[in-house]
Amino acid sequence: MAKAKVGLYTVQGDALTRTHKSCPKCGAGVFLAEHGNRRSCGKCGYSESKAAPPVKAKPAKAPPEAKPAAPKAPAAPTPP
Ligand SMILES: [Zn+2]
Repeated sequence: MAKAKVGLYTVQGDALTRTHKSCPKCGAGVFLAEHGNRRSCGKCGYSESKAAPPVKAKPAKAPPEAKPAAPKAPAAPTPP
């Protein structure tokens, strides 16, 4: 008996959402196993790497903002 694969779908209300990608070689119905950084098909051996999450810019010091050296108008001469 075919058994619904647990974890491959989520049901939201009446909608069924696939949580796993299907194999591009085997077609819909064959899902790719989710691994840490890749997905693989247990049927044909297809595997693909997950898109690497965007590397965060170093949280190190932000470059000090250069103060705009706005040329100040010379102070008006003070009246005597
Ligand atoms: Zn496959």
